[in-house]
Amino acid sequence: MREGSLEAPTRHPIDWQSEAFYDEKACFDEMERIFDICHGCRRCVSLCQSFPTLFDLVDESETMEVDGVSRNDYMKVVDQCYLCDLCYLTKCPYVPPHEWNLDFPHVMLRAKAIAFKKGTSTQFRDVQLASTDRNGKLAGIPVVVQAVNALAKNDSARKLGESMLGVHREAWVPEFAPKSFRSQAQTQRAVSTSVKNGARTPGKVAIFSTCYVNYNEPGIGQDLIKILDHNQIPWILAEKEACCGMPKLELGDLDGVAELKAKNMPVLSKLAREGYAILAAIPSCGLMFKQELPLMFPNCPDTQAVKAAMFDPFEYFTERSKDGLLDTGFKVGLGHVSYHIACHLRVQNMGQRTKDLLSQVPETKVHTVERCSGHAGTWGVKKEFFDNAMKIGKPVFKQMSEHPAGKPDWIASDCQLAGHHIAQGMERNKLNEANMAHPLTLLRMAYGI
Ligand code: SF4
Ligand code: SF4
Repeated sequence: MREGSLEAPTRHPIDWQSEAFYDEKACFDEMERIFDICHGCRRCVSLCQSFPTLFDLVDESETMEVDGVSRNDYMKVVDQCYLCDLCYLTKCPYVPPHEWNLDFPHVMLRAKAIAFKKGTSTQFRDVQLASTDRNGKLAGIPVVVQAVNALAKNDSARKLGESMLGVHREAWVPEFAPKSFRSQAQTQRAVSTSVKNGARTPGKVAIFSTCYVNYNEPGIGQDLIKILDHNQIPWILAEKEACCGMPKLELGDLDGVAELKAKNMPVLSKLAREGYAILAAIPSCGLMFKQELPLMFPNCPDTQAVKAAMFDPFEYFTERSKDGLLDTGFKVGLGHVSYHIACHLRVQNMGQRTKDLLSQVPETKVHTVERCSGHAGTWGVKKEFFDNAMKIGKPVFKQMSEHPAGKPDWIASDCQLAGHHIAQGMERNKLNEANMAHPLTLLRMAYGI
């Protein structure tokens, strides 16, 4: 038997529609098998709180082995996992095709799915937080939007929110925009209609706006449009869109994921077949279409077509540059940029596209920080996890504040939620502070537009 696989990791489809998937004993047996391998390995101890929780349980048990840990405590490990996928794709030597066939995140997902079907004590709160599309639509109603944003800044309301909804009173929470990205962009037209396909890139773009850009920070979407217009790339909005499903996946609500998939796929697969590159500016949404949905629906041709057409914006622009079809005559230097590469982008296995492109801007030094920020979507704002989110992020906050070339002028993360979490962590830890902006905003600025 070989110690560790030398081949690229492969992933098995998620057998979520079979009855066997929800067999609790089989799932716990598989967890025990995997925990035992992890106990003998311990490489992932610094990634998140799942592994320290597991190893503490083992070390404090009577046998100091996994067989000494009560199965009743397994969910303590599961609860700390936010499915970032880093252990699978960046650390573990025992993932398939290795014969140990170890998939830590997907056994966590299975346990979450079983728990979700049974109902958990925090289910009401968790479902509300994961309903990003519905929350955005409700909060975006004029008058309501001001009230919601004002309450998010009010100490008494936050204390009430913590006790009633379980959202930590000190956690950064996003504001809602008075006008959604989609309602703004529906009235805009691309400046160019001529399509120039490259060897690597389709010459026309369909924008999947994502819940966050649509309801919380439409400016990121507007920056994307400005960059596309500047490069004479015709774009359209996906005609209709629903949440990508990642927040529901993280809860184990797989039926909820399937409902959203059924709304998105007819629209997105049509665009994919018409030859559009589909761009999503939030890495988690891109990952959902590139990896998780294809694994949940391996035999769905629409899902596979969308997978092939989905690009992270910086992936698209760097490929466009290789095609000789991107303007790289940047006009405005950005100075020192501390750049955090989001976990859900790292696991897409495409290298550091954001860094590659921003590094081409003159008078710009990009320093990459490759570690989990600890925010993890809705996980880090929850009352019981916020302190861990701050603890996991501490090394990131420090590295982001210490750019090797001097004080950072900008901090940026592909995941804007992580960006805000890092900014909050830097402030709480009294570290060097800097302006925070999404990398697309920095790219737009570099063009001087
Ligand atoms: S998927 Fe991420 S959060 Fe879950 S156990 Fe692995 S590293 Fe930790
Ligand atoms: S997931 Fe793999 S690398 Fe991480 S602790 Fe377990 S066996 Fe080791």
